[in-house]
Amino acid sequence: MSTLPIAVIGAGPVGLAAAAHLAGRGLPFVVLEAGDRAAAAVREWGHVRLFSPWRYNIDTAAAKLLADAGWQRPDDDLLPTGAQLADDYLQPLADLPALRPHLRYGARVAAVTRAGLDRLRTAGRPDTPFLIRLTTGEDVLARAVIDASGTWYTPNVLGASGIPAHGEDSAEAYVGKALPDVLGRDRDRFAGRRVLVVGAGHSAANTLLSLAQLPGTPVTWAIRSGSPFRTYGGEADDALPARGALGSRLREHVESGAITLLTGFGVQRLTEVEDGVEVSDGRRSVVVDRIVSATGFRPDHRIVSELRLDLDPILGATRALAPLIDPNEHSCGTVPPHGVDELSQPEPGYYAIGVKSYGRAPTFLLATGYEQARSIVAALDGDWTAARDVRLDLPETGVCNSDPILSTDAGCCS
Ligand SMILES: Cc1cc2nc3c(=O)[nH]c(=O)nc-3n(C[C@H](O)[C@H](O)[C@H](O)COP(=O)(O)OP(=O)(O)OC[C@H]3O[C@@H](n4cnc5c(N)ncnc54)[C@H](O)[C@@H]3O)c2cc1C
Repeated sequence: MSTLPIAVIGAGPVGLAAAAHLAGRGLPFVVLEAGDRAAAAVREWGHVRLFSPWRYNIDTAAAKLLADAGWQRPDDDLLPTGAQLADDYLQPLADLPALRPHLRYGARVAAVTRAGLDRLRTAGRPDTPFLIRLTTGEDVLARAVIDASGTWYTPNVLGASGIPAHGEDSAEAYVGKALPDVLGRDRDRFAGRRVLVVGAGHSAANTLLSLAQLPGTPVTWAIRSGSPFRTYGGEADDALPARGALGSRLREHVESGAITLLTGFGVQRLTEVEDGVEVSDGRRSVVVDRIVSATGFRPDHRIVSELRLDLDPILGATRALAPLIDPNEHSCGTVPPHGVDELSQPEPGYYAIGVKSYGRAPTFLLATGYEQARSIVAALDGDWTAARDVRLDLPETGVCNSDPILSTDAGCCS
């Protein structure tokens, strides 16, 4: 068992950070990535500029491996786009000789279990290898599993009740996922159309500001809460100036009437009509040509349904982590340091890290994920002192400190 590799699911920023820490400690590992190159999910929102500068976006173990190979670190104060994060940091990291031989692209994990044991069987469980089945049918054995598969591919639905709105499935031709490249490759789908953006997070704000730049494109913005205050965020007081500026610009567009804001609007029904799709909250309705669903993401626990997980019933994070990240109490900057103790499950050796570890909480930051990766890898190496010495230096923000959220469609990162 101890000669088996540690399996990392996902070669996103946090999975690759885990790989860098594993390589740094000389532990055997394999990274299983569904995409055909590193950072497949990040590349889907490659046109979006991050709100946190490079200094918060680079893992320490990764930086060391890259520096040793002669990598030029980007300017700590600049804000990369998703594409730059992937091309200038994550792909060079994945291509290092210390990582590349252990990375498998096109390896989508279908299920994780214990070899020969279903969830019911207790005897010998901690000493039984994990069995990871890929969608190709291949089985991979591992001594531990670090699940950094993210949440990008399981977006929330439009329906305000957490299940699809009436008619949502049959109206799918009108509905697109969060963060379309409105000013780039998706321009023709939006220019000159009536567009509705649903959601109150960073993704919605980004899309709204891009749409506002398209001439002759009427834009409506629907949020469940009674006020857009949370989306506007800390504005000039935000410790991440890029995020603050985003909120200010959005407020100006709403106040000038360039964007029509519908507050207290929970989508209940979508109906195809003669000239588009009618979206209703039961009291009011709007007819549009395109809908952008920016309602956030949720973790997909189905691939690990044969493991013993004890999840917080609200967020879907571990029970120990949930109160530390609860968006009713916390936002990005107020999340306390956490690591192996908060991320452990009843299933020994399985850890979800990265944005997946936060479940439905929309407050994840890369810096948090990198510290999770460092702590988990140290624990898997038996270095409990390092594993428990968790530290975080997160930027505080006006959003985070001033006002707990009133509804779950608001947050800093989704
Ligand atoms: C638009 C946007 C802007 C953001 N801006 C910031 C910011 O400025 N600062 C910040 O700190 N955070 C930001 N975040 C939040 C967060 O840091 C990112 O979402 C980040 O990509 C999370 O990293 P991850 O490695 O946990 O997951 P992901 O980046 O989603 O990576 C998961 C990887 O797992 C792979 N995968 C998925 N399922 C499987 C499977 N079954 N088998 C194998 N592989 C699989 C995917 O292909 C992907 O490569 C932002 C998020 C978004 C969406």
